[in-house]
Amino acid sequence: MDPLQPVRGTKDILGDDQRRHSHVVSTARATASLYGFDEWSTPIFEDTRVFARTLGDTSDVVTKEMYTFADRGGESLTLRPENTAGICRALVTGGLTQSLPQKVFYNGPMFRYERPQKGRFRQFHQIGAELIGAAEPLADAEIIALGWDILTRLGIADEVTLELNTLGDVPSRDAYRAALVAYFTQHQADLSADSQDRLARNPLRILDSKNEGDRALVAGAPTIAAYLTDSAAAFYQGVQTQLARLGVPFIENPRIVRGLDYYSHTAFEFVTSRLGAQGTVMAGGRYDGLVAEMGGPPTPAVGWAAGIERLSMLLNEAPAAPRAVAVVPMGEAAEPVAVALLQALRRAGLRAEMAYRGNTKRRMERANRIGARAMVILGDDEIARGVAAVKDLATGVQTDVVFDEIARMLAV
Ligand code: ATP
Ligand code: MG
Repeated sequence: MDPLQPVRGTKDILGDDQRRHSHVVSTARATASLYGFDEWSTPIFEDTRVFARTLGDTSDVVTKEMYTFADRGGESLTLRPENTAGICRALVTGGLTQSLPQKVFYNGPMFRYERPQKGRFRQFHQIGAELIGAAEPLADAEIIALGWDILTRLGIADEVTLELNTLGDVPSRDAYRAALVAYFTQHQADLSADSQDRLARNPLRILDSKNEGDRALVAGAPTIAAYLTDSAAAFYQGVQTQLARLGVPFIENPRIVRGLDYYSHTAFEFVTSRLGAQGTVMAGGRYDGLVAEMGGPPTPAVGWAAGIERLSMLLNEAPAAPRAVAVVPMGEAAEPVAVALLQALRRAGLRAEMAYRGNTKRRMERANRIGARAMVILGDDEIARGVAAVKDLATGVQTDVVFDEIARMLAV
């Protein structure tokens, strides 16, 4: 039999990789808490309609990337490609549309059938934040500031630029869409097949095309600024004013649209030049229509999601593995005392390990191999005196310490 492999586009997250991953999640969770966000978890699979109805039937995710299957009962289910739809579904299911605003943080795996490459997987992981029930520009600015603070606390804000745009309100977008259709229709023959299709179904999405030829045409396309209604322009100005008050630097990029169809007003991305083509680490915007699509009342909302794999790749160093105290019994007779001491150290909050077998020499070698910071050595002679020999493996200094004092002495 061929050796079993992880499925294409998926990977195991082990050792340093998992420490990076956990560091991203715990830093984000702690920062979100400072802004008053609570963590939610929704199922990783949902009724297909949760996504098909709401992500828009022209989005790449819905047309090409979803893992959709019939379960044994014949129901159409989909592995979640993103979590905003699930969070809004949960808000409606839980009757929480009456207690707004809700400020939600989440993290977990997402699934998209994409061509795997650096920074792009079929199972990947996101952290995300949703601020549901606030229509003010301060809400947009605050959720962006949360993202910025997370990047700052991860030590990667220097490598990342916030790019901001507006998609306007419905009248602005209708006028802009007409202008885009007029422009791209002139160049229709030069558009990629995908973008010719978008031209008919959702011309704004051409701005997001990754095709080189399309990008050249996009560079000459009209921008939305001239088509914004007064109130949409004022909203966009308000977001910028609040961002300045919150101390978040940004540049404007009129080409930013979001990949999913449910956005309006604010759209933003945090991008880096360090990850090649997969340069967007965090992306989001305002999605005032989504909760209603899910069967709830009209509810304003704004949020973002960030790829944990991409953030992890930007971390300079993996957080260090915690270093253990190794307990080393000398001879079988010392083992029972060693086991009791091992457990006492753990209960005192110390990471402590003891090898399961081997003579004294081997156990000491193992302590060095696992990078232990100290050894607690127990021989018959020490036990008789109620002490253990505690050896600091950085300095090599060894001292006899009475049992009750060992944990205190090794406390970090
Ligand atoms: P892209 O343009 O890279 O395809 P997207 O617009 O599809 O991104 P979003 O749906 O906005 O991405 O997801 C938010 C973030 O999740 C992205 O900025 C990225 O960091 C991460 N992400 C999205 N798809 C993947 C993937 N297949 N593998 C790894 N990370 C991903
Ligand atoms: Mg994508």
